Amino acid sequence: MSATPTLTDTLLRVRGTVQGVGFRPFVHRTAVRLGLRGWVRNDAEGVLLRVHGEATRIAALVDALHHEAPPAARVVAVEHSNPSADEQPVGSHFTISESDTSRGTAPAATTPPDLALCADCERELLDPTDRRHLYPFINCTQCGPRYSLIEQLPYDRPRTTMRAFRMCAACEREYHDPLDRRFHAEPNACRVCGPKLSLTDPSGQPVAASPDALHAAVAALRAGRIIAVKGLGGFHLMCDAAHEATVAELRTRKHREEKPLAVMFPDLATLREYADVSPVAEKLLTSPEAPIVLVRRFENSRLAYSVAPSNPWIGALLPYTPLHVLLLRAFQGPLVATSANLSEEPLCTDNSEARERLAGIADLHLAHDRIIARPVDDSVVRLSRSGQAILLRRARGYAPTPLRLPSALHETTLCVGAQMKNTIAVASGDQVVVSPHLGDLGNAATQAVFERTIATLSELYEARPLVVVHDKHPDYASTHFADRTGLPQLAVQHHLAHVLACLLEHEHAADGVLGISWDGTGYGEDGTVWGGEFILLEKNRATRFARLRPFRLLGGDAAVKDARRVALGLGHEMDLLGPLCARFRFSPIEHSTLQQMLVRGLNSPLCSSAGRLFDGVSALLGLCLRNNFEGQAPLHLEAAATRAAGARTSLPFDVVRAATPGAYLDIDWAPALSQLLRDPRGPDELAADFHRGLARAMVAVATEAGVGTVALTGGCFQNALLHDLATEALGNAGFKVLTHRHLSPNDNSIAAGQALAALWGLTSVELPS
Ligand SMILES: [Zn+2]
Ligand SMILES: [Zn+2]
Repeated sequence: MSATPTLTDTLLRVRGTVQGVGFRPFVHRTAVRLGLRGWVRNDAEGVLLRVHGEATRIAALVDALHHEAPPAARVVAVEHSNPSADEQPVGSHFTISESDTSRGTAPAATTPPDLALCADCERELLDPTDRRHLYPFINCTQCGPRYSLIEQLPYDRPRTTMRAFRMCAACEREYHDPLDRRFHAEPNACRVCGPKLSLTDPSGQPVAASPDALHAAVAALRAGRIIAVKGLGGFHLMCDAAHEATVAELRTRKHREEKPLAVMFPDLATLREYADVSPVAEKLLTSPEAPIVLVRRFENSRLAYSVAPSNPWIGALLPYTPLHVLLLRAFQGPLVATSANLSEEPLCTDNSEARERLAGIADLHLAHDRIIARPVDDSVVRLSRSGQAILLRRARGYAPTPLRLPSALHETTLCVGAQMKNTIAVASGDQVVVSPHLGDLGNAATQAVFERTIATLSELYEARPLVVVHDKHPDYASTHFADRTGLPQLAVQHHLAHVLACLLEHEHAADGVLGISWDGTGYGEDGTVWGGEFILLEKNRATRFARLRPFRLLGGDAAVKDARRVALGLGHEMDLLGPLCARFRFSPIEHSTLQQMLVRGLNSPLCSSAGRLFDGVSALLGLCLRNNFEGQAPLHLEAAATRAAGARTSLPFDVVRAATPGAYLDIDWAPALSQLLRDPRGPDELAADFHRGLARAMVAVATEAGVGTVALTGGCFQNALLHDLATEALGNAGFKVLTHRHLSPNDNSIAAGQALAALWGLTSVELPS
């Protein structure tokens, strides 16, 4: 017996990143396959469909919207409603309708991030019969530049830097054919009509033009030259990663002593000859986001020592633009691919600017005439043992994908982030758009990019901010900028912003959760330096429940570089200053000066920083005495602990009633450190015990707090071992553990947390008296 199928007529609203990513052709194909009638169009809120047909087939379409959308699309929600009488009617087929621009532009729906070369384009790139064979700027709706070339919204070619190139008839045809993969691919181009490659010397004189530019560049790389290569969001400096003298020369020219350099490998198979690549790492490396992934290098790998001196990990990435693919295939080996900038400055994006700023660094420039509207760095990801991705730098591929706030803000809000690893965010309605990583506002060039990004994001999203949110630190450049805007201001405590960023990702309320917010330094509510904080959130109120036992940061900022000074500050609390001064070979005169500073608190502020505790312990174990780059001493401590996997012992951290006002509980590290100084075992075992001891202390504090959920956040959770141990220990003790997935645990996420703080009016951490 067969019943007549029920026919349904319904509207489907699709939210997320669904414009400019081949979404309408995908909907068209799927609807036709399912025999549905109706239409699909872009509008202010994303994509709208009207479908007419059997209910089961419509359900199958909805399922496909969620699970079969093009890789570049991000479907956040599909909402059903009944069509109103004045809605565009359904015809006899399924069609793609004109965009509805009557209600303005959908900001967040229209700015996809830059994406890596897709498999279809790569096939065409390497197919001798394809008209784009070996064309270095091939792209489609699933890949290529977006955010880095958009000048204004709506996202249409005349408002991108591609407006300089007029499409030829063949490209034009693809662009207007709804069934073509390049339907509305804004950067669509080919050899006839698109950008061209050039190789120039540092003065801008052409050395070779397409198609010889690439081969001349490869010959120069083989000869040990350093080449500035223009990619998607800026220039890289590239050179032979297997040639020690070349890499050492790059370090000398770039004034970069020890910080690891990223390496681009021709393909996964080659990378596997050099490093251990887990299935999760493989998935990330080959994803449209194509970040740099930290992988464990093989001891005997043929990479130059100077790529990552005494570092067990290397930052690996695969070619993500067609130009990179062609370059690496021709070179047939790994190339250093480090951001083309001087330390801490923003990436070079403009051809002439690159020649100027990279004078004396790059021997040649392999560039092109597609303009980069704004710098976008490579993203950096590492993996926890359980295979969870930890974002160390959120940039290309991930930003500016918007996040959703739990409810709408009344006013468009600008969040200016922190100081180091700065990002900014523009929050409007229930969306928050976080910029890519901008860098350290300590230098003027990054500050300029910061101000430009604020202007462009506000412009792009047609969102004139009416409120500005900043960190409570009075001296951050971002705080000074907020002062200058003349807008009403909200100041948010740094570690609270970290916790809120984590809650934002998990759509968790500010209730019944303990935020473990551990980082290097942040401005505390009491004016001291915080960084080892346990913030209890109950009924939308935040309290500093516990902290690391405070100690003096000897020499203030000087201690951030010199890990020995942190060790002395810790030792001073334990009456061990003398022996430690001797251990670190300070003279008796220096000892006496340092003692005076500590006793009187001269230029030695109190801090509760977990990041500094890691520095101090790294120095005490003789693993690293100086941070030549940020986080170096903790990295060595983590590497040592990872070598000593397997044991179950831990150093004793005591959870005690706070010795001074400011929190309910202190984690006292003194018992752990005194055992560490007495224990005859080697540094690897002690480093491991140190990590495990901290994880146990977290469980003890969380138990005292009496909550069911714990959020782990802050730069210290870039440490994969700490992340794993804390997650496991808390999980085993029955806590639900929230960690960052789409945002970074570090200060890249402060701006996102500030947005949620503004929405909830939750800006301060209360101190127990
Ligand atoms: Zn493509
Ligand atoms: Zn063309």
